[in-house]
Amino acid sequence: MSEAKSVAIIGAGPVGLAAAAHVLERGLRPIVLEAGESIGHSVRQWGHVQLFSPWEYNIDRAAERLLASTGWNSPDPHQYPTGAELVEHYLEPLATKTALADHIHASSRVTDISRAGVDKLKTKGRESAPFEIRYQNGQGPKVVKADAVIDASGTWHSPNPAGANGLPAIGETRAAGKIAYGMPDVLGKDRARYAGKTVAVLGAGHSAIGTLTDLARLANEVPETQPIWLLRGSDPAKAFGGGANDKLVARGELGAAFAVLVTAGRIRVESEFRVSHLTADGPRLIVATGSGSCCRQVAVDELIVATGFRPDLNFVRELRIRLDPAIECPVALAPLIDPNEHSCGTVRPHGARELAQDEPGFYFAGMKSYGRAPTFLILTGYEQVRSIAAEIAGDHKAARRVELVLPETGVCSHSATPDASQCCGGPAPSAVDAYCTADANAKQQGKAGCGCAS
Ligand SMILES: Cc1cc2nc3c(=O)[nH]c(=O)nc-3n(C[C@H](O)[C@H](O)[C@H](O)COP(=O)(O)OP(=O)(O)OC[C@H]3O[C@@H](n4cnc5c(N)ncnc54)[C@H](O)[C@@H]3O)c2cc1C
Repeated sequence: MSEAKSVAIIGAGPVGLAAAAHVLERGLRPIVLEAGESIGHSVRQWGHVQLFSPWEYNIDRAAERLLASTGWNSPDPHQYPTGAELVEHYLEPLATKTALADHIHASSRVTDISRAGVDKLKTKGRESAPFEIRYQNGQGPKVVKADAVIDASGTWHSPNPAGANGLPAIGETRAAGKIAYGMPDVLGKDRARYAGKTVAVLGAGHSAIGTLTDLARLANEVPETQPIWLLRGSDPAKAFGGGANDKLVARGELGAAFAVLVTAGRIRVESEFRVSHLTADGPRLIVATGSGSCCRQVAVDELIVATGFRPDLNFVRELRIRLDPAIECPVALAPLIDPNEHSCGTVRPHGARELAQDEPGFYFAGMKSYGRAPTFLILTGYEQVRSIAAEIAGDHKAARRVELVLPETGVCSHSATPDASQCCGGPAPSAVDAYCTADANAKQQGKAGCGCAS
């Protein structure tokens, strides 16, 4: 009897574990390599943050089937977990109490991937050569072979720097002691660092507005705390989101509550602030848009950089990868998620076909598959890995089937002459009188539309 096909899965976040569940269900053999000491390593770093999607959108179906056989009590579908609760009530039981437990290797950081005996240049014999995955687990370099690879390693560990040009601002490395990236727990374990301080938050996404909202709360308790919002754009209202139109109610509410704080003057706003220099000035940090007298400056005690994330592509360098040059995501996905074209999080469900690479058997999935685009939803990742596992197992029909309806954001900004192929999940089906997929979904639900074509 031939051995089951093996699939290396990089990262044991929500999408990596879901991939393992689908792979196992398909009779394949998952090998999950996780860099952190335990599964859900990245989610644990933002454990204090409440998700904007309720439980019903956070649980993968194959994972649920595995958990069901352990007597698992599924959480209330309408409640909103924090990151820590997502780990405790879902990811931990999935990784420790089901058949997945035997396939997960923690403290195993993948450093390089290639194909056995075949370098990037060589085409002959490429498809049949197994992947060789190198990883480090503190006991010297290790190698594992696999027939396919799903890279679900996320982007949390490679945040964008402060510089508006995408490079670290001049002085950023030297000022590291006064800078945090992502979403520090300003009301919890990092409270002492921020209470009573002047704190600038750079960015305009959910992480930035969530942190500013928490800092405004901290200012209620410690009035000397001064939150400053530094945004590169000119219109703060763009960050307020879809409000009541957002199908993910908590996300809409977050934006609406933030708008109230800004309007009430509880957060100082510095728009069109494109950081280029960071300089220590005694105990303070000068955040500046240039170096001469023409530049704008703010003096702060702490800077939180929440300018998004980018994929770490170093360890896939020896593979034949084709990415969109701007977004750094698989090329077919780019028109659906390009933030230059639309801010809509309503993305047409997609799978193996869109995520396939020139390297047969290799797929990006999860947060990393979106490259630098900020609108990824866990549910999208679950559909991706369902489709990828089906494709690897040879069930091409199931791989192409769409088994998911995504919630709409209610935010659909677009360029002056919108192009339906690049908006809101792509063009609407031809039989439907609608502009794009989101517009069609909205009309199907008896609404006027998504606002795209208005
Ligand atoms: C603060 C925050 C809130 C969010 N809220 C929501 C929400 O409400 N709803 C929603 O749908 N989405 C939300 N998201 C977006 C997204 O769904 C999550 O980021 C989700 O965790 C992505 O899952 P993932 O498995 O793709 O990546 P991750 O959760 O980032 O997991 C990747 C894993 O790979 C590991 N890894 C990294 N590099 C390597 C390596 N070289 N070798 C081995 N392992 C490696 C990491 O340690 C990590 O455990 C949120 C994101 C953030 C940051």
